[in-house]
Amino acid sequence: MTAPVLERVVGQARAVRQLDASIATPVHAYLFLGPPGTGKREAALAFAAALTCPSGGCGACPSCGEVLALRHPDVVLVERQGASIQVPQAQEVVRLAMRSPRAARFQVLILVDFHLVEQAAPVLLKTLEGPPETTVLIVVADSLPPDLRTIASRCVTVSFDALAGTDVVRMLVKEGADVDVATAVADVAGGRLDRARLLLGEAGFFSRLERWKSVPARLDGTGATVVILAEELVAASLEPVEAVKSRQSAELEALAAQAERFGERTIAGRAAIEDRHRREQRRVRADEMRAGLATLAGVYRARLDGSQGTQVVSTSLRAVELISEAAERLQRNVNDVLLLEWLLLRLDSLA
Ligand SMILES: [Zn+2]
Repeated sequence: MTAPVLERVVGQARAVRQLDASIATPVHAYLFLGPPGTGKREAALAFAAALTCPSGGCGACPSCGEVLALRHPDVVLVERQGASIQVPQAQEVVRLAMRSPRAARFQVLILVDFHLVEQAAPVLLKTLEGPPETTVLIVVADSLPPDLRTIASRCVTVSFDALAGTDVVRMLVKEGADVDVATAVADVAGGRLDRARLLLGEAGFFSRLERWKSVPARLDGTGATVVILAEELVAASLEPVEAVKSRQSAELEALAAQAERFGERTIAGRAAIEDRHRREQRRVRADEMRAGLATLAGVYRARLDGSQGTQVVSTSLRAVELISEAAERLQRNVNDVLLLEWLLLRLDSLA
């Protein structure tokens, strides 16, 4: 039977089997490798819980609970500081790796974002070759750049695959979502469970999609309406950013509590964490705009399917083209309001 705590890991049957088989006698270092949003971090925490739980990963005892809430003294999540992993941070990992576990049979260090290891890689090599027997390292990475290859060769690789839409739906339903809602969210989230959860977590998601869908009908040939619509849509795209911000402040609180338990006054690398948070906020906002544009394109595409008239076909095609051009421009960090005004004015003149 699989350790119950590993059942938290969705759609990664192969990885779960591999991890489950090594709970009793883990090796000293694992590389969790796979695209973002595939549950690597969750899997790392679940595996850490299994390694520190007195009953091998029950998922229900205080020890498991503390690990999953990032409050266990023997499980440390090492966050990146700045744009890449810095040498001093790697040195800190080396120091932490030498400690003995305080409560459990193992201490587990989870090293996040190690596709960004760059020059810090050599510092870690010795530790990865032979940490104390009571230390288990989990290196988490989205990809395997050259800097990470030597490290990877010292680890057992656990591969994570992009999640199937059905897995995302299944997980969301298991977490209490309505199946139709889960299906719609999984569709927009593009196989990323993290984004799907985020969308589901805030009630405004569907009303925002409706807002995008209503755009073609609301365009009335006046520039004033275009300006209003653009502002409305951009304001709505900031709603999920608020949801992210509240999750991020919870994360900072948890890290502060952890630092306090280790007798440290401040969170190590706080500025870097806040930096990462800001990047995440920008990414969520861009994802939201992209989902909105895709929804809008869907409206024009539906007209295309339903119509035989050449006029409707050519304006709808042109509209879809314009929207995909806008989506491309979005990647270049342009001003969202101006971008939408540009798009809506053109869509309006097609009608
Ligand atoms: Zn347990």
